[in-house]
Amino acid sequence: MSASTSRSASRPDVAILGGGLSGRLLAWQLIRAGARVALFERGDADGSSAAGWVAAAMLAPLAEAAVAEPSIVEMGAAGLERWPSLIDGLPEHVFFQRNGTLVVWHQPDRAEAVMFDRRMRANAPPALLRGGVERVTGAQLSEVEPALAGRFQEGWLLPNEGQLDNRQLLRALAAGLAKAGAELHWHTEIAEGAYPDAGLVIDCRGLGARGVLTRLRGVRGEVVRIHAPGVGLRRPVRLLHPRYPIYIAPKENDLYVIGATELESEDMSPMTVRSALELLSAAHSLTPAFGEARIIELNVNCRPALPDHLPRVQWDGARLLRVNGLYRHGYLLAPAVTGEACALAQALMQSTGGQVGVGHAFDWETWRASRPWPDLFRHG
Ligand SMILES: Cc1cc2nc3c(=O)[nH]c(=O)nc-3n(C[C@H](O)[C@H](O)[C@H](O)COP(=O)(O)OP(=O)(O)OC[C@H]3O[C@@H](n4cnc5c(N)ncnc54)[C@H](O)[C@@H]3O)c2cc1C
Repeated sequence: MSASTSRSASRPDVAILGGGLSGRLLAWQLIRAGARVALFERGDADGSSAAGWVAAAMLAPLAEAAVAEPSIVEMGAAGLERWPSLIDGLPEHVFFQRNGTLVVWHQPDRAEAVMFDRRMRANAPPALLRGGVERVTGAQLSEVEPALAGRFQEGWLLPNEGQLDNRQLLRALAAGLAKAGAELHWHTEIAEGAYPDAGLVIDCRGLGARGVLTRLRGVRGEVVRIHAPGVGLRRPVRLLHPRYPIYIAPKENDLYVIGATELESEDMSPMTVRSALELLSAAHSLTPAFGEARIIELNVNCRPALPDHLPRVQWDGARLLRVNGLYRHGYLLAPAVTGEACALAQALMQSTGGQVGVGHAFDWETWRASRPWPDLFRHG
């Protein structure tokens, strides 16, 4: 971002409110583009207050196509390609792999597989489906995922899908931002309307922005973290089931995230017994080898969702952007959504010499129409 000659030396170009997933990733892109960035987060540098802390961080555009509309799948596929370059240059290790997603089902639930297949094919672009879906027999499954040998008669391997370690990412972004000279304000809650002084303010507070984004709601999600040495799943596995669809996402060091419930509630209280039983029973039905796993954590947070379940980058016409609505696809979509927010911030700053909102005429419609996902943007 080009420096304005008139700006004060201490005033940041951009103040970001909320240092969860979207806030940190956007800050990282802005600082790499040359902006002076200040980040304000009510929680800690680890990111433990964020929905992004609890997430499984699967990057699965095709598997999600069964429950999400085509624009999510397209943005997600683009995001998956961009993760390696975003992680590159961070000062700490972040586990990222593209070893695919495996989808399996118990034979009585075969109807679920038919529905999953139909919805996935309806919402995914042909280019993503080509080479992106492989039918595997029970015998092939033993080679693809030895931990599940003999457990299922068939499944699908979606070989191009990815995953990352969310907590490593949040920590590495904090470290990268500190190293790059960002102004970092942890344990700093920003009250509504009391925004910091900056050329541009970007609100990435997730559910914390509900006071101003009145149609935003939280969707409660619960996950279990277990330690299961010796099971050795190679990739996230989704178990289709009419009542208890679950995933198990392996992390490094034999850690697994089993998730996730999806409840129409903003209740952040601890996990219910019912949810714990459902998640753990489903995991045990995947392979009894999980029976000896140790339960490390039971986690709860709420996904920030707009009524259409689509993300938004909203400009107020002056100095404020809001990035929100990442719902259950935050990790999948964040590269595309924050990349677009970064592009808008840069365009606004450059077109006004750093004086965003001060009597300038930014050609919003032309700019928006030039972007790959114009519907992402709102004005007003
Ligand atoms: C159980 C679960 C599983 C998930 N699994 C996946 C998955 O596998 N793949 C995937 O792509 N996505 C997944 N997600 C979704 C993903 O985690 C979210 O979409 C994403 O975290 C949203 O990012 P965000 O930055 O908008 O919000 P958050 O990550 O919640 O960050 C918002 C930040 O703002 C801070 N904040 C709020 N109010 C204030 C304030 N007033 N002042 C200062 N700071 C404030 C909060 O402390 C928080 O750190 C999952 C989510 C859940 C809950």
